[in-house]
Amino acid sequence: MFKSLKIFFQAAKEKELLITAFKVALVVGVILNLINQGKNIINFSNLNLTKFILTFFVPFGVSIYSSTIMRLKIHVGNRAKIKVKVKCLNCKGGELIIEKDQIVEECVNCGDKTKYKVIEIIK
Ligand SMILES: [Zn+2]
Repeated sequence: MFKSLKIFFQAAKEKELLITAFKVALVVGVILNLINQGKNIINFSNLNLTKFILTFFVPFGVSIYSSTIMRLKIHVGNRAKIKVKVKCLNCKGGELIIEKDQIVEECVNCGDKTKYKVIEIIK
């Protein structure tokens, strides 16, 4: 569990991913704030500043989470988005290093039943 969290946070700590999440938070946060307390924003009255700020964190978190999960999905036939060390969950076979942008190949033991799990992110 803690190892998975460590891998998740390593993958999430990418500049390009954080910039995208920031942009999403800005656009979606403004829209959500207008929906939730638009009148108060326009009138500058009874504006709940805590809600206003927290509303930006929701799309930021969702963006970071979903793009990190996508980066960590290593499917046969697709290009790896980051350099990783994986292990086949099907045969519990040996570990394999996949380079960034390398097309992921099947496990030598499992063929089309290959199911990789990221066990390390390599910088
Ligand atoms: Zn295998």
